[in-house]
Amino acid sequence: MNLVLMGLPGAGKGTQADKIVEKYGVPHISTGDMFRAAMKEGTELGLKAKSFMDKGELVPDEVTIGIVRERLSKSDCENGFLLDGFPRTVAQAEALENILVELGKKIDYVINIQVDQSILMERLTGRRICKSCGATYHLVFNPPAEPGTCDRCGGELYQRPDDNAETVQNRLEVNMKQTQPLLDFYQGKGYLKNINGQQHIDQVFSDIDLLLKGLI
Ligand SMILES: [Zn+2]
Repeated sequence: MNLVLMGLPGAGKGTQADKIVEKYGVPHISTGDMFRAAMKEGTELGLKAKSFMDKGELVPDEVTIGIVRERLSKSDCENGFLLDGFPRTVAQAEALENILVELGKKIDYVINIQVDQSILMERLTGRRICKSCGATYHLVFNPPAEPGTCDRCGGELYQRPDDNAETVQNRLEVNMKQTQPLLDFYQGKGYLKNINGQQHIDQVFSDIDLLLKGLI
């Protein structure tokens, strides 16, 4: 099963990726892991990517796409893969199509975990951290017994600037703007499967599982 996993921050992509990998044994290929592995192995493309990252520059598409090609050619991808974080643009999606043609493969599904923006806001802005011991809480999902106070050490809880409403909303909007053309591209190819991510984690996986069962 050749899969691409998509979803906005807070949609629960990581959790569902873990569950897919656990049940179906396909390698979880995230962009970050792929870069780190290529650099560690010291492949030509890995070193090229490193030279850009060391300068604080974006890694150009041709290097990224080369690294994806190398990764997808490995033997552990013979029975499938789960791509996460790539492609990010339609140009990368088109390059991925070409790589897969070369390798005699095709994407089965692009799984898009859908969650309303208001719910993502609630999930992403609710995190609180203890100033003294670093314990993390969530106002909705894991609240402290006494508001604003750490259960463990009595320390004061605070919100990281990254988690404040304005920053989170901005991040979501940038993300949505970037992914919409990609979703349209995959819709046009007939690969796109939207999954309701507003259900219980187990129900979300059960919906994904129903799709994937059809592939084996
Ligand atoms: Zn504490």
